[in-house]
Order: sequence, then structure tokens, then C-alpha cells
Amino acid sequence: MWDAHFRAPEAGVARARAMHATATDPGERGWLALTLAFDALFFASQPAVAQPLLDDARASFTRAGDRRGELLCDIGLARIAINEGAPIAARERLCALEAGVRRTLSPQDLFWFLVVMAAAHFFADAFDEAIRDLYEALDVLRTVDARAKLPAIMSNLAAALVAVGGYAPAAELASAALAALADGHPQLVLFARANLAEALAGLGEYARAAEVVDAMLVDAAAASRTPEQNHWFAIAAEVYAHEGRGDDARRVARAAREVHDAFPAGYNDVHALWAEAVVADARDGDDALEMLEAAADAAARHRYPAVLCKALARLAERHAARSDFERAYQASRRLLDAQSSRLSHRASARYVQLRHEYELRHVRSERDRELEKRRETEAMNAELARLNADLQHKMIQIEALQAQLAVEVLHDPLTQLFNRRYLDSVVPGLLGSAERRGSALSLALVDLDHFKLVNDRYGHSAGDAVLREMGRVLPMALRPADIVCRYGGEEFCLVLPDADAAGAQKVLASLAARLRDLRVAWNGQALGGFTFSAGVAMYGTHGTTLGDLLAAADRALYEAKDAGRNRVLVAQAT
Ligand code: GH3
Ligand code: MG
Ligand code: MG
Repeated sequence: MWDAHFRAPEAGVARARAMHATATDPGERGWLALTLAFDALFFASQPAVAQPLLDDARASFTRAGDRRGELLCDIGLARIAINEGAPIAARERLCALEAGVRRTLSPQDLFWFLVVMAAAHFFADAFDEAIRDLYEALDVLRTVDARAKLPAIMSNLAAALVAVGGYAPAAELASAALAALADGHPQLVLFARANLAEALAGLGEYARAAEVVDAMLVDAAAASRTPEQNHWFAIAAEVYAHEGRGDDARRVARAAREVHDAFPAGYNDVHALWAEAVVADARDGDDALEMLEAAADAAARHRYPAVLCKALARLAERHAARSDFERAYQASRRLLDAQSSRLSHRASARYVQLRHEYELRHVRSERDRELEKRRETEAMNAELARLNADLQHKMIQIEALQAQLAVEVLHDPLTQLFNRRYLDSVVPGLLGSAERRGSALSLALVDLDHFKLVNDRYGHSAGDAVLREMGRVLPMALRPADIVCRYGGEEFCLVLPDADAAGAQKVLASLAARLRDLRVAWNGQALGGFTFSAGVAMYGTHGTTLGDLLAAADRALYEAKDAGRNRVLVAQAT
């Protein structure tokens, strides 16, 4: 129950309350009573309720021989002593317990010790020690998962920092505590609001402080009366007085006096007097000096630097305004003393605080670095994906280009017939096959007659159109196994496997017939009457290599031209 209560106080305390009435085993009874007592002490601000429970728990633990339980009871009893205005005695008792506590108790139990020790220091005017202990308590909370405790510790820290004038970190902590509290324990919300208001006032942000005070007072009206309210009402009075809300300031100052009368211990004397002094000061009443003096005296007596410094500063100003420079000087001297002692608290607390800020920054920058790394990785992944897509796109393009190149590399772009490179690559295979099979193979060079005239008469594009048409017609005169390529300008090479000279002549005769009938449409005209001359060479008869066959065919072609064109001649046998 004790452990559960640490993490979920409300549920834990409800169960503990139900079980406590009937518990008989001393150990069990001790832990249940302790749980209820700590709840009354630290959450409900009801020390009167806590006292008998602690006594009950202490006796039970002694009977059960439970040292840990006893230690925790002593910690709780020290907290009560602080409430009763004996912080120095409480601190001495805690110091005596400390070694045993650090040896025996778990981090979670140590937390309570630190919190109470901090309170003892706080009320014994050792604010720097209080801040140290609270930071250690914060460290302990980091090692045990207890988010429920964070707001309380942050609020306590805020209060201690306010006491030494560390308003900026106090405001930050109190805001963080409030945010973490959401629908938290009402007393804690009030406490956090009070600290936030006081820190904001210390920073000179009175308008924001007034908003916080307004919210705080709405809550306070609903809350049961506790000694702490005196402090809150004093802050409220100060903020309202500064904001010129005299009626509100008087109302809360009266409330502060009432709380003081109900709970005169602790700093409540200081708070009640300060609340009345700020009202008088704002009203500019005759009693203002007297009231400020009273508040300053009480603050000095109780060693409460926040109010002491504020009261002395107002006194110095008031005396100076009345040209009472002697008294103004005295107040300034006292203020200087108070401020330097406050500053020394702050300076020694500052070191601890800086260490924590450093750690926090370190953790933040660690986190930022992680985020940055993740962002970079994400950006790099996106870039990689983009590059991949790009690459894939380029690969497709390249493949298409390669395919096109493969076509282009072996084809003539104008006629779409094969080119000489193709001829060079396939003919040796065909010759080998003819050789192996002992079959015939003919090669013919075909050259259009007087083709220059087409260009001359109709222009170069007309010549191109005719050549393009040749590319379409020539293959039609051939068998599938035959090959035709553009050999030169208007010169074509035909390779005719299994065809002897007679076969070749037949193919060429059918080609001649097609050309004779061919009409090429050009600019509304029909170009026609095409003839060609051709030379034929046969594998074996005119050579066994492509070069030999081409040379023989070329010679025959030359002769055909010479003989008057429009004819096919077979090469002379060599
Ligand atoms: P021949 O009967 O003696 O072969 O006469 P020809 O005019 O056909 O022969 P020549 O070698 O004197 O001229 C060939 C012409 O073919 C010259 C050139 O302008 C033309 N020619 C060659 N390649 C192309 C081409 O790609 N496009 C066009 N339009 N004309 C071409
Ligand atoms: Mg020619
Ligand atoms: Mg020609």
C-alpha cells in the first residue's frame, strides 16, 4: 500500500483508509497508518490528522521490529515539528537519522527524507541547503518512476528559489508543476499558483501575477483552511495592491489575518503583517511606515528574506520621500545586509541549479541531435528514393536508346534497310553455311540509273522520297532468307542464299519489273520510270570472301552501266 501510494496517491490512500480500521497485524497496521499519515501531511496539509496516525504507526513498527517503518515515522514526525515552529530541532533529529536513512531506505523512501530535510532547512533559514535537498529529491524521482511526485517537488523548489530571489527559475518550475498537475491535488495546485504568482511579481510581471492570483483565489475559496493559505493571501494582497485593486487587496489581507489567527505558527506572522503593510503602503496611509516596520521586523525575526527585502526597500523609499534621509539610509543599510545574505544563499544554490540546468540542456541537446539525425536520415532516404526513381527512369531510357541504337547500328535511317555493318557481320556466316552445305549463294550490286537526274530535276528531298520507297519495294521482291542492304547512296547489295546466277537474275528481273511500275508521289506529281543496273557474283565461281564477291559484282555492275544501263550482268569467272 505504501509503495502504491507513492505512485498513485489517491487510489492508494482510499484503499489504505478502508483497510486501516480492521488491520490487526502490527506490521500491516504500521504501513497503512503511515500511508494515511503521509497523505495528511504532504497532500492534505492536515498535520493534526497526521500526528495520531504517526504515533500509531510508530508503535506498530516497534512492535513488529520494522526499522524501515520506524525511520519513516521519524521523518514524518520531524515534518510535524517543523509545522509546529521547531525547524531547527527537526533538522537536528533528521541529521541524526541521515546515516541510517541513506543506508537502510530505498530511493523512494529517501525521497521523503529529502523533502522533509529541505523543509527543515527552509524554515531554519538555510535556503541553499533546502534547494540542494530538493534537487537531490528531484534526482531520486528520476530513478523511480513517480511522476505524481514531480509537481510537489517542483513547487517546493519554486518556493525555495523565490525565498532566495531566484524568480526566473522559480516561475519556470511553478509553471511546469501547474502544467503537470492538470486536475491534481487542490492544495498542490494552490501552492504552485502561489509560487508562480510570487515569482512573477518578483520578475515585475504584475499583470500576469494578478491573473494567477485571481485563479488561485477561486480555488482557495473552495479549499479547506490550511496554514499555508496565509502565504497565498499575502502574495495576493501584494499583487492586488500593486495593481491598484485596493478593495481586493484589503479583502485578502483580512483573510491572511484570519488564517494567522487560526494558525499562528511558522511564517504566518510575517505573511499577515506583510499583507496589511502592502495595503497600507498602497493606500499611502499614515500607518504605512509603521506597518512596513512591523513586517520588516517580523521577517527579520523569522528570518524570512523575501518579505524582509521587500519591506526594507519600501521603507527606504518612503523615508526618502519624506526627506528623512537618516532613516532612509538605515533602511538601505539593512536592505543591503539582507540582500547580501539572500544573495549568498542564492549563490550557493546557484551552483546546484546550474548543474541541473546543464544536465537538462545536455538531455535537450541530446534529444535535438537525435531528432536532427532522424530528420537527416529521412531526408537522405527521400533523396535516395528520388535518385533511385531517377536512375530507374534513366535505365529505361538507356535501354530504349540501346534498343534504338542496336537498330540504328545495323540499319540505314533513310530506307530502313540493313547497312553495310550488318552485311559485314552476317555474310561470312552465310558463306560458311553455303560452303558446308555445298549450296549456291549469289551476291548482287544494284545501282539506280541516272539517279542524279531525280535530284537535279525535283530536288534532293524528292531523291530521298524515292530512296525511301526503294527501301519498301526492294524487300518485297525477295524471299525471307535473302538480305538486302543499302550499300551506298543509290546502290544496294543483295545477298541471295541458295541462288545461283540464274536464280539471281530471276530475282533481279522481278525487281526490275516492280521498279518499272513504281510511282513515287511527290508534290502532286508521280515520279516513275526507274531502272537499275546490276552486277552479280556467285560464291565459289567469283570468290569465297565477301570482299572478292563484292569486287566481282562491282566490276559486273560497271560493265552493265558501260553497256547502256538497265541491265543485269553476271561477273566474269576468275
Ligand atoms: P548512273 O546511272 O551512272 O549511276 O548515274 P547516277 O546519276 O545514278 O550516278 P552518280 O554516281 O553520278 O550519282 C549518284 C547520285 O545519287 C548522286 C547523288 O546526288 C545521289 N544520291 C546518293 N545518295 C543520295 C541520297 O541519300 N539522297 C539523295 N537525294 N540523293 C542521293
Ligand atoms: Mg552510284
Ligand atoms: Mg546510279
